[in-house]
Amino acid sequence: MHTRKTFNFSAGPGVLAESVLKQIQKDIWDIHGTGIGVLEHSHRGGSIDRVFDETQALFRELAGIPDNYKILFMTGGASAQFHLLPMNFLAGTNKTADYIDTGVWANKAYKEAKALASVHLAGSSEDKNHSYIPGKDALKFSASPAYVHYCSNNTIYGTEWHRMPEAPSGVPIVCDMSSDIFSRPLDVTKFHFIYAGAQKNLGPAGTTIVIAREDFLEQGSKTIPSLCQYREYAKNDSRPNTPPVFPIYAVGEVLKWIKSEGGLKAMQSRNEAKAKPLYDFLDAQDFFRAHAQKGSRSLMNVTFRLPTEDLEKQFIKEATAAGMDGLKGHRSAGGMRASIYNAFPPEGVTALVAFMEKFAKANANKAMA
Ligand code: PMP
Repeated sequence: MHTRKTFNFSAGPGVLAESVLKQIQKDIWDIHGTGIGVLEHSHRGGSIDRVFDETQALFRELAGIPDNYKILFMTGGASAQFHLLPMNFLAGTNKTADYIDTGVWANKAYKEAKALASVHLAGSSEDKNHSYIPGKDALKFSASPAYVHYCSNNTIYGTEWHRMPEAPSGVPIVCDMSSDIFSRPLDVTKFHFIYAGAQKNLGPAGTTIVIAREDFLEQGSKTIPSLCQYREYAKNDSRPNTPPVFPIYAVGEVLKWIKSEGGLKAMQSRNEAKAKPLYDFLDAQDFFRAHAQKGSRSLMNVTFRLPTEDLEKQFIKEATAAGMDGLKGHRSAGGMRASIYNAFPPEGVTALVAFMEKFAKANANKAMA
């Protein structure tokens, strides 16, 4: 249910469910009836043990994650994974890893790895301003990569993989799922390593979730600093040092909400039902122009342009005044972006489409000018 005055289309940190925020308010004051709030408990005490256990159990339950996978809570944002991955699995070896460049974040991951080790660009969508996901024939993998890295949802350009990249069989697949994790069912057994910053679908900023095969983590370098080694997090239940307890706790509350809504299949239906009217509207008129090509479109970030930059500025101003915040596209892509993550309320999409219709009618003459 949406009762607040603003619809939050922010790309992240993004909207959280109202029931989650209310529970967080209570637990900040007193969690588990201990008379101590979640922000104040020792990270090694019983209450926080319980938070960690419950949160990991919910991850396992919602995505059917088997026991040979570890669930880690890390810090440094998803961006830290861009260098931690090659530090652990590439640098100092004679191996290469393959990267697919489908946008700003995927490209950053590639560049960070390239600075440390040997990498191969297996595919790119740069030729068309990252408006599509490369097809099977456009992907050229190296002979025997240590892993293949891709980004399942390109937050900035609004494209999303609706299939796995067709890597040679047996090659470990590593995926940045920061902006679409748990937006749809997830078969983790297809991956060796998944990571995601929490601040879009899973909670507030401050922790990055890693779901990875234990045997893969064990292959990581033993000579890099200990806080860079995944095995240290695996061995110490994500507490090799003081972890960011609050965002990890909040992720647990978000997972409880996902469960109460019916789990990942229900999230997918909810997200499809939100994205469809927006894309249908974009395709049915010619004032606004969708950025992402059909077949590559994101259910999480819907990107579009207006006829002129002046109209885009006016659109943002009027949308904000009408209670729709965060629609401005990322500074590197321009245009508009409606981020409609799991917790984004369906009423917000209805309101946006109605607003867009009205805006197009009122400004049709400026589009011709
Ligand atoms: N990957 C993706 C797909 C993202 O959308 C983002 C942030 N928007 C990042 C990585 C970087 O995340 P962080 O700011 O947590 O480092």
